[in-house]
Amino acid sequence: MFKALILNQQDKKTIAEICQIDESQLPEGEVLIDVDYSSLNYKDGLAITGKGKVVRQFPMVPGIDLAGQVVESKDARYQAGDNVVLTGWGVGEGHWGGMAEKANLQADWLVPLPQGMTGKQAMMIGTAGLTAMLCVQALVDAGITPESGEILVTGASGGVGSVAVTLLAQLGYRAVAVTGRVEENGELLKQLGASRVIPRSELEEPIRPLDKQLWAGAVDTAGSKILAKVLSQISYDGAVAACGLANGFDLPTTVMPFILRGVKLLGVDSVSCPYARRMAAWKRIAEILPASYYQQACNEIELEQAAEYAEAITNGQVTGRIVIKL
Ligand code: NDP
Repeated sequence: MFKALILNQQDKKTIAEICQIDESQLPEGEVLIDVDYSSLNYKDGLAITGKGKVVRQFPMVPGIDLAGQVVESKDARYQAGDNVVLTGWGVGEGHWGGMAEKANLQADWLVPLPQGMTGKQAMMIGTAGLTAMLCVQALVDAGITPESGEILVTGASGGVGSVAVTLLAQLGYRAVAVTGRVEENGELLKQLGASRVIPRSELEEPIRPLDKQLWAGAVDTAGSKILAKVLSQISYDGAVAACGLANGFDLPTTVMPFILRGVKLLGVDSVSCPYARRMAAWKRIAEILPASYYQQACNEIELEQAAEYAEAITNGQVTGRIVIKL
């Protein structure tokens, strides 16, 4: 028997309970894993609280990220004892995920734990960190260099934003952190490498089709009016890597930034990101993230605290990454 957080639905409400289950209850898979750590992302928060339609069938074990060791594998690429990481692929949404002591997964979804990284560190990165790296890479591929100008990061205190600020700073970019919590998190964001911190209220002013050109690029985790405002302030030939919807999923913008300034809007998805790009991103994160990142922007919690933190993350009250020890 082992411990799992199980989500069920009663009268259209999601109920989260810690249960003891056995291996025969796990869904079918090719690789059985002893989970060491999972993490709590915004999406996990939506799943556990039921505030978002994330879970596609009940009962469900949430947890879109996990790190652990292979117990047994039907796929030749993995052997017992191998350390692996999983992020995305609909795990924790349509297939039982990381918030259990064991998981049974498809081999194609896994990546080997990057050299020199622990499972806990991999979960401090998790989906959020992988997404941040993919966003930064998208800006690099679009030709944005440290000399191009400042890079704006919205939702900077969150999981994606805090890693994006760190990675950009490590690569020599001037990262300007946008946060709704300047008082609370301004200092931490500077420690992570933000060159400046600005209040979210500056991006909540009325949106003009074209505003003053302030930023060479941006990593946007907010969407909606915030992304529209950011687009209106991007400099000629600049680019925005858009990955999130913390402000909303709409986009009340015009074509003006695109057709008059050549601004590029780069969509970033980490969930179904192909293996080669995914592996390259993990390798790059392992190279770039400084040891200090792992001390600064992370809380470790027990599975029993997941529901409480799920509520907090969906209320925008969490700073940095949360890892769950199994
Ligand atoms: P977090 O909850 O950790 O961070 C989101 C941050 O956004 C908050 O910390 C807060 O930062 C800011 N924020 C909160 N509410 C609002 C609001 N109403 N308007 C503007 N900003 C707000 O989430 P993650 O970092 O895990 O994820 C960020 C977004 O990216 C989410 O929408 C998530 O769904 C998406 N995502 C997408 C992925 C992909 O593959 N495309 C993968 C992972 C995440 P502050 O207080 O500093 O303003």
